[in-house]
Amino acid sequence: MKLVAGNWKMFKGPGETREFCQAFRMPQGVEAVVCPPYLSLAAAVESGQTVFAQNVHWADHGAYTGEVSAPMLLELGVAGAIVGHSERRQYFGESDETVARRTVAALGHDLRVIACVGESLEERESGQMELVLRLQVESICDAIGAHDALTVAYEPVWAIGTGRTATAEQAREAHAFVKSLLDVPVLYGGSVKPDNAAELLSQEDVDGALVGGASLEVESFTAICQAAAGIS
Ligand code: PEP
Repeated sequence: MKLVAGNWKMFKGPGETREFCQAFRMPQGVEAVVCPPYLSLAAAVESGQTVFAQNVHWADHGAYTGEVSAPMLLELGVAGAIVGHSERRQYFGESDETVARRTVAALGHDLRVIACVGESLEERESGQMELVLRLQVESICDAIGAHDALTVAYEPVWAIGTGRTATAEQAREAHAFVKSLLDVPVLYGGSVKPDNAAELLSQEDVDGALVGGASLEVESFTAICQAAAGIS
């Protein structure tokens, strides 16, 4: 079964979260999860959705202002967390080392993890895509290896929020490469929309999607989930 995760980034407070979750019906044959901002996690959990956080700290507690730990997420009923999203890497100094630490801590507490990797446009155009992916994936692999609750999201940075998607062939190649390094399910992320979801999701080694912008509306998120459900 494919996994479709909606990364809401810094959109939707508790009120809008409740409205979305009450209106959203997960189609049969797909697993859909929503990833609201921290403040809206409780509202999403109470609405009965499967909920992931957008990040998680590696310590259980401590003097880490602004951070949230795995035990705190578990207490709320959160099922997992995204780690290493390119926006965290780009704007908040996230490194391969901190992504690995977050992954290990979350899995150690029985949270599921979607660990994000992906190359920038400059890296792709200068022929460094495989090197970048190798460094990102191996850092997770060295820290924890393949784990039942671990999923990787391949998100080419140049395709996130840009309306530009990887071609089906680019996605297939990158996913096969990631899986050759770490044998876990791999989601594709980067401007997945209702009109391109079926093609991307039907590629070999594409085990689901991490969706940003199109996960904010019930209609478009549902359409992507339906596309995923129609592909075995
Ligand atoms: C994301 O936030 O992970 C993402 C892929 O965003 P978008 O679908 O908007 O490109």
